[in-house]
Amino acid sequence: MKLLIMGPPGAGKGTQAEALVKELRITHISTGDMFRAAIKEGTEMGKKAKEYMDKGELVPDEVVVGMVKDRLSQPDCAGGFLLDGFPRTVPQAEALDETLQSMGIALDGVINIAVPRERLMERLTGRRICRSCGASYHVIFNPPREAGKCNTCGGELYQRSDDNEVAVANRLDVYEAQTQPLIEYYAGQGLLKNINGDQEIKKVLTDVLASLK
Ligand code: ADP
Ligand code: AMP
Repeated sequence: MKLLIMGPPGAGKGTQAEALVKELRITHISTGDMFRAAIKEGTEMGKKAKEYMDKGELVPDEVVVGMVKDRLSQPDCAGGFLLDGFPRTVPQAEALDETLQSMGIALDGVINIAVPRERLMERLTGRRICRSCGASYHVIFNPPREAGKCNTCGGELYQRSDDNEVAVANRLDVYEAQTQPLIEYYAGQGLLKNINGDQEIKKVLTDVLASLK
């Protein structure tokens, strides 16, 4: 299956993606994770991306589109993939359509996780991420079994530098201005699966899987 998961920052895209890719045996492609890996490696692209990310701004389209094109051409994507955090603008969505068309493939569905804005600040400021495998936790809503330690790989949990109140507020504004229009874009293509993300994590997953049947 070739899928895309979208929704505002903090909607639960990463949380659901982790379970979905296991269930569906497809490759998880998170552009945010790719940028964080580039920052960790200290590449030029990572350094440039970090300036935008720390302010809660979007990395320029041409940088993201080039990175995703390269990623989609890798062999582990041939059996299916789940794009998470991409596209985030209409020009990115148009570039993705062109890329997929040139590869002779099409999306099977676009999962849109909807959560009211007032819930997102507390989800994001309480989020903790595993430094090794990228798994997402929450200090209250989804705590690890052992404080500060990943359930799956035992890695150290940390707080993302852009999960502070100032950057989050900007990310939510940027989402509403630049990413929300994609809901109409994919509804127009008949691909949209609207999911209520304001429910327990397991219930959201059940609803997502049911929408794909
Ligand atoms: P996104 O990838 O959309 O930015 P995450 O999956 O990282 O969002 O989730 C954001 C935060 O909210 C994390 O701390 C996560 O543990 C928590 N979270 C995810 N889904 C839910 C849910 N259904 N209910 C409560 N908290 C959730
Ligand atoms: P995420 O991990 O999806 O929350 O992304 C973290 C940050 O990475 C975003 O706030 C952006 O600065 C950047 N980013 C990730 N994906 C994209 C994208 N598709 N377009 C532009 N910037 C992106």
